[in-house]
Amino acid sequence: MLSNHYSITKVKQIINADGNIVKECTISTLFTDSRRISNAANGLFFALSGRRNGHEFVAEAYAAGIRNFVVAHGPEFNLPEANFLRVADPLAALQALAAYHRSQFNLQVIGITGSNGKTIVKEWLYQLLAADKNIVRNPKSYNSQIGVPLSVWQINGRNDLGIFEAGISTVNEMDKLEAIIKPQIGVLTHMGTAHDEGFDNPRQKLLEKLQLFRNSKKLIYNYDQLIDYKKDIPVKDTFTWSRKFNQADLYVFSETVIAKNYYLRANYQKKEIECLIPFSDQASIENAITCWATMLALGYSAVEADKRIERLTPVSMRLELKTGVNECSVIDDSYNSDLQSLEIALNFLNQQNQHQKKTLILSDIFQSGLQQDVLYRQVADMVASKNVDKFIGVGEALLAHQQYFKVAEQYFFTDTATMLQQLKQLNFKEETILIKGSRSFEFERISKALAQKAHETVMEINLNTLLNNLNFYKSKLKPGVKVMAMVKAFSYGSGTFEVANMLQYNKVDYLAVAYIDEGVALRQAGINLPIMILNSEASAFDKLTEYKLEPVIYSFGLLDDFVSYTQDRGIANYPVHLKIDTGMHRLGFENYEIETLCDMLEENRYVRIQSVFSHLAASEAKKHDEFTKTQIKRFEKAAKEIEKTLGYKVIKHLCNTAGIIRWPAAQYDMVRLGIGLYGIDSAVPITENALQPIASLKTSVAQVKKISAGDTISYSRSGKLSKDGKIATVRIGYADGYLRAFGNGIGKMLIKGTLVPTVGNITMDMCMLDISGLDVREGDEVIVFDEQHQRIEELAAQIGTIPYEILTNISQRVKRVYFYE
Ligand SMILES: *Cc1c(COP(=O)(O)O)cnc(C)c1O
Repeated sequence: MLSNHYSITKVKQIINADGNIVKECTISTLFTDSRRISNAANGLFFALSGRRNGHEFVAEAYAAGIRNFVVAHGPEFNLPEANFLRVADPLAALQALAAYHRSQFNLQVIGITGSNGKTIVKEWLYQLLAADKNIVRNPKSYNSQIGVPLSVWQINGRNDLGIFEAGISTVNEMDKLEAIIKPQIGVLTHMGTAHDEGFDNPRQKLLEKLQLFRNSKKLIYNYDQLIDYKKDIPVKDTFTWSRKFNQADLYVFSETVIAKNYYLRANYQKKEIECLIPFSDQASIENAITCWATMLALGYSAVEADKRIERLTPVSMRLELKTGVNECSVIDDSYNSDLQSLEIALNFLNQQNQHQKKTLILSDIFQSGLQQDVLYRQVADMVASKNVDKFIGVGEALLAHQQYFKVAEQYFFTDTATMLQQLKQLNFKEETILIKGSRSFEFERISKALAQKAHETVMEINLNTLLNNLNFYKSKLKPGVKVMAMVKAFSYGSGTFEVANMLQYNKVDYLAVAYIDEGVALRQAGINLPIMILNSEASAFDKLTEYKLEPVIYSFGLLDDFVSYTQDRGIANYPVHLKIDTGMHRLGFENYEIETLCDMLEENRYVRIQSVFSHLAASEAKKHDEFTKTQIKRFEKAAKEIEKTLGYKVIKHLCNTAGIIRWPAAQYDMVRLGIGLYGIDSAVPITENALQPIASLKTSVAQVKKISAGDTISYSRSGKLSKDGKIATVRIGYADGYLRAFGNGIGKMLIKGTLVPTVGNITMDMCMLDISGLDVREGDEVIVFDEQHQRIEELAAQIGTIPYEILTNISQRVKRVYFYE
């Protein structure tokens, strides 16, 4: 993050800490995540206790070069020449430091909160005001108890406007954010149902949000939304907008769609004014009106506001990870560029292990508020510290400052077109390429050239959701219980290295796959976590050992085979896992075989038993709970006997996803988390919102046809409409994993917000939907499943199967695109 300068002694005083300063030092950068440390020399690491205790990472941060720490206790070991500042609550200290920093500047600050649209409104206000102001704002949506202080820490003497968003999920949080942001101007965006679960009722949530504005001089909000809460508004001077009431300051009385734009007319200061919004979806319109009101409230003329709003561009905070040409991976972040988001994108680049070579294509950066030589020196430092192997700079400014860059392989071009002409010579092959550009450089052209063309059926995977799901289960584990993530069958259809990289970066303990080949693929993609193989074939033991994969031994035959294999090659203590069959009756040693097994393991030096486990047949089903209890008893008995024989401790594990929540006493040393990671668990009610499905499947309309009553549709003339109507032919069929069972009205898809049934049989590559009465065009998007409209669970119910089967059926032909925020 960007820098500011305080001596460590001064920091100690600001946060009121104990501890000795052993070496004076200037602090300019704050870190809370030991994995993201670069330029550590002037860094200060806060050991925060969130889902993981930051104190566990002090040694890692030290190894990365950090010599200044804010901790609640410790250090537990000797770390020479490091300053340890001890406080009761390191997060409170981080917030106090940011609040102090904020108090050193008297720039104007706009504070934004609401349930939806905070980030969009913040980014749009930035687009609208950057022409006259030197603006500092949150990177991406860094709006939490940690994100806000890190954002505010970036304020420097040149900024004359701050735009900061604040997000909360429960009571008593906004107070702390207000003290850090101190906004003189408040903007309230759409209030919806997000985070309702953290509050007793909607009013409590609103009151908590309004806390952000308790010291503000002016508040901009939607009059219609707060009509019942007038007395609760903490600010006297307000600027309101409305689509219903003409007493609002900005009363929007006419709305028309023109092409894909939205044309608004409104009354303002007794005059009629207008505004053209270059979007037509409802959320964008509401956010754009909020920005319009804010510009007027800030004193801009209606003409100027209209002129700037017309040029608003979409805000994409997401990075997209796609398969590229020539065995490359492409990270597409082609819509904006500034130092903070560059750093975030480079961190994501560094999370990728699938190719050794890491490449950055970067455009000139605008509106940084820094002088060019300072800016590009910082960019060059960042690029160097993130170990980029190949650098391609596009733009006059980068070209002019190329002397700062010292990347092993580097190229500079004046503009995007020139670079594209040289694409062949740049020889992209087996590398991970980050494309990061300011909008005017139109880097989407580069991304189009480098990413493999997707046929129009795409499965979108949200990696942030994956992480949230993982953290949800971690929060349900007893202390010390390890996580083995099940990534068999292409991670339940969701991807190989893309998912595994995320899990490795976020420190799961083990991975498991079904077959040796799956394990080899993960190793070749740079995954170094221990990997358990559920079902090893003797013919591939060479690969198994070459790639350090750990087999499950489930029968005497397999044990024999593997022991002779290791014996022949002089291998000792090879890690293996023992599977006990306690009632699933698939693979594993039966209870009566345990004694013989123990005899065979006694003094066997060829293998080392890493873990002993079994699998529950019905962990999710109440009606089988007695059976599950029997399985648990059998497992405990077998594991105990084996441990006694071996004379050393082994990892014991039994629970799959549903078991984690329903059978917490059986978590033992580790759990095997499968489908829950991908957002599905019948033991967690969907209404609780604790889990989200990570995948959505989308396709598009290839053709629209008028059909008369009586005409037949598809093979075997299987479909018919009862009246004259219309069908849409869409680009998904059973070869993509949309099974034939969905045909003839059993399955439904979402077009233009409406669920419509299939007609006729599903064909190999296409199927037909009844769209009678809807305005559907060729090319329109069609949603097969997603989190909001039609979940995977519902598809499974339609054809009488389980979500596992729906997910793993999606064929490899369907391109996967990964999103990360
Ligand atoms: C697939 C599998 C799991 C994961 O089960 P979920 O229900 O998806 O959590 C756990 N253990 C074994 C042995 C498995 O094969």
